[in-house]
Amino acid sequence: MTRGAGRFAPSPTGPLHLGSLLAATASYLDARIHGVAWLIRFDDLDAPRNQPGAEDHILRALEAHGLRWDASIIRQSENVDAYEAALTDLANRGLLFYCNCSRRSVAQKPFYPGTCRHRKLVTADCAVRILVDDAVAEFDDMVRGFQQESLARTSGDFIVRRRDGIIAYQLATAVDDGAPEIGRVIRGNDLLGTTGRQTFLMSKLGLQPPLYGHIPVLVNAAGQKLSKQSHAEPLHAEDPEANLRRVLSYLGLPEDTESTGCGCEVVLERAAESWFLARLPDTEAIEIP
Ligand SMILES: [Zn+2]
Repeated sequence: MTRGAGRFAPSPTGPLHLGSLLAATASYLDARIHGVAWLIRFDDLDAPRNQPGAEDHILRALEAHGLRWDASIIRQSENVDAYEAALTDLANRGLLFYCNCSRRSVAQKPFYPGTCRHRKLVTADCAVRILVDDAVAEFDDMVRGFQQESLARTSGDFIVRRRDGIIAYQLATAVDDGAPEIGRVIRGNDLLGTTGRQTFLMSKLGLQPPLYGHIPVLVNAAGQKLSKQSHAEPLHAEDPEANLRRVLSYLGLPEDTESTGCGCEVVLERAAESWFLARLPDTEAIEIP
């Protein structure tokens, strides 16, 4: 079993694009330089959003860019028993409650105001929330520095199981990233605001949080993060080395002309030698042309 590994955790909702290649490359280099395994986990619980063939496309694209993973592919859809056990554990300690507030009524407020806390609702057609009380989540981010969040003011009691029965992203991710196999989570800044809820859940579940590093995300000219939703174009398949050089430059690595044409494996090997989180551009987002 691996311990302290790094991981890349895409959702199989579309092909790899430049933004996801950036996150994959950063976590890969970070794992390599620290001598730990690099794992792939598909965050595929939100089944209606999954796209047929996306997993395979992502894996082939990673391979084409020289990003080789070290163990069997992990899928959240195959780990549901662990999430159910975590929910049972939290419920047994009186930390969960049912909520039937409409999405719209909650979205109008900055955080969930605790409406259903004492309503003793039954299970049908309800989401499940966890009581956050006055919890303050704290962690030292390797890129963004010390982070502190009063959950009552940011999220309020948040959802751990959705109304449609699907395990919430925060719970599944807390269980998986809190496992002893995982030691280093390098991912995009857009997830910085979810980390406090995840470390809070880990503390409630007796799990050890990994080290976190939140790197800049790529945005388009309109300031939108590159994603399937913002219609990011898939990577150009014909020149993976060029794609790789592009993301390495966004990661603040010096241009390496000696490895030109040597293939992605060589480019990555040489990049790992000069990889250092502190080189990252001091910005939350990088606009790409
Ligand atoms: Zn409610």
